[in-house]
Amino acid sequence: MFSLKELNVVKQCKDLRVKLWECPNFLFLIFGIITISSIIISYLVGNRLIDDPLIVSLIVLVIGFIMIIIAYLITKTFSSIVEANIFKSEFINIISHEIRSPLTSLKWSVNLCEKGALPKEILDYFSIVKDGVNKITNLIQILNDVGKIEVKQIQLNKSLFDLVSLTNEVIKELEVFIKEKNIKLSFSFEENLPKILIDGEKIKLVIKNLLDNAIRYNREEGKVMIDISKKNSEIYFKIEDTGIGISKEQRKRIFQKFFRADNVLKYQTRGLGLGLFISKHFIEAMGGKIGFESKDGNGSIFWFELPIR
Ligand code: ADP
Repeated sequence: MFSLKELNVVKQCKDLRVKLWECPNFLFLIFGIITISSIIISYLVGNRLIDDPLIVSLIVLVIGFIMIIIAYLITKTFSSIVEANIFKSEFINIISHEIRSPLTSLKWSVNLCEKGALPKEILDYFSIVKDGVNKITNLIQILNDVGKIEVKQIQLNKSLFDLVSLTNEVIKELEVFIKEKNIKLSFSFEENLPKILIDGEKIKLVIKNLLDNAIRYNREEGKVMIDISKKNSEIYFKIEDTGIGISKEQRKRIFQKFFRADNVLKYQTRGLGLGLFISKHFIEAMGGKIGFESKDGNGSIFWFELPIR
């Protein structure tokens, strides 16, 4: 049975997860209005300028027909794009969900075997397997996060955290990469910073993304400076590097999904172009802001701020 909800185009577009002007239902409505208006206008103008009512009706008919064809073609194109988008998101969700359970068993088995009394050469092979399993686990986690962001279902598990400790934990986790590239890292922070109510795991991931980028897009023996301070009612985190920077033309796309700037491809570093996209959504979900300043070839400063209360 027909329900009034079917007329709520804005809600339908929200459900399809597309912007209003990309939504086929909304475009159909707009083209309907344009078609009716052009039929009425051509009828009124034709009636004034042409005496023969048959010719007026023919003109109105042709204009109406052309408008309907244009509307059909445009809405059909957008419908295909939206369908492909929905299919892609669902595909990613299903695949990441399906890979997760065998991966957990694999991880569990590797850990168990490592604890057993195995010869050294076999243990070496196990560390390769473990490394691979960890990389796939991270990848699945990223896809899962992107899926949640797309359906606007970021779940926050908040409690009081100290940003300095979280940063120290991240620095420790990335120590190998810092040493590998001979990066000089400095970490300063204001004394007695208050703890903040955040999802610790998610903010740790944001810091990890920012530090990982500051290392990867830096030169050998480059510098990375981290600073945490209090600014009015916010905690302000800043990370500065002496790396390749971001060109002016590409700056506005930096937080977009799958975006990687041209200059990083030269370095052939690994990356999916999802870290900053995820970070921006996590910070905003916690009521904060994220941004950056950069000079092409001359380093970048990334920052985020989170409300204290
Ligand atoms: P990834 O690093 O996996 O490519 P991100 O979303 O973390 O994905 O970053 C997106 C892009 O932003 C990078 O590919 C790079 O072009 C640019 N970028 C991010 N951080 C920096 C940085 N500190 N210096 C220079 N470019 C950066």
